Amino acid sequence: MVISDGHIAREAFTLLRLSPLLEPRRDEFAEAVSAAYATIEGFAAAHGWTHRMGVFFDRGVEVFESQAALWERIKTLHSLPRDLPVPTPGLAAALECRILVAVTPEEYASVAPEYGSTPDAYPRLLAHEIAHRLHIAIVGGDEDAMGPEWLYEGFAVVASGDLLEPPRCEPTWEALSAGGRGAYRRYAALVRRLMSLAPLSELVERAGRPGFEDWARGFLTSGRSR
Ligand SMILES: [Zn+2]
Repeated sequence: MVISDGHIAREAFTLLRLSPLLEPRRDEFAEAVSAAYATIEGFAAAHGWTHRMGVFFDRGVEVFESQAALWERIKTLHSLPRDLPVPTPGLAAALECRILVAVTPEEYASVAPEYGSTPDAYPRLLAHEIAHRLHIAIVGGDEDAMGPEWLYEGFAVVASGDLLEPPRCEPTWEALSAGGRGAYRRYAALVRRLMSLAPLSELVERAGRPGFEDWARGFLTSGRSR
């Protein structure tokens, strides 16, 4: 189901659950959610996945003033142990149990300055989480079929309309697929490079099969030398 921008903006407005302190900013958050949704809706349409698109956060949108509060909420949603530490220092958003949860733009800029302080960083953060849900819908709900981390995170970064600079020069496969700081930038560069050789739908479809990384690596190398 494709929902027009106007509809999703109204829907986002009513889906939002905000603390009294954030309540005066309801319009701002509804606009960001709406922009994020429109980005992924457009991306899905561009790749022939309109039929996989949906409002994946129909149970609500919640914004938290701190990463700690966001993490508490995620632990509650998944009945995780209370003392479980934050899994990643840059945790800023998630889409769990059909609820989109995120910190504020200012908290995002604080916990992930390398990503959170760029223009339009906030709608892109939300779009990134929606993109993961689109990806899961494309692979029929089987999260194991999403492929390696570099593929599904690269997918989400590309889908969310990243304005991130690609790495300079011609980095090796090892450099692009490595984790660590700035990894999402490299993952997106790797996915973009593969997308210049094959449709993204083919990469996504192949990613769930055994031997995908070997295939992708060989494909990239042979594609480059042509
Ligand atoms: Zn992600």
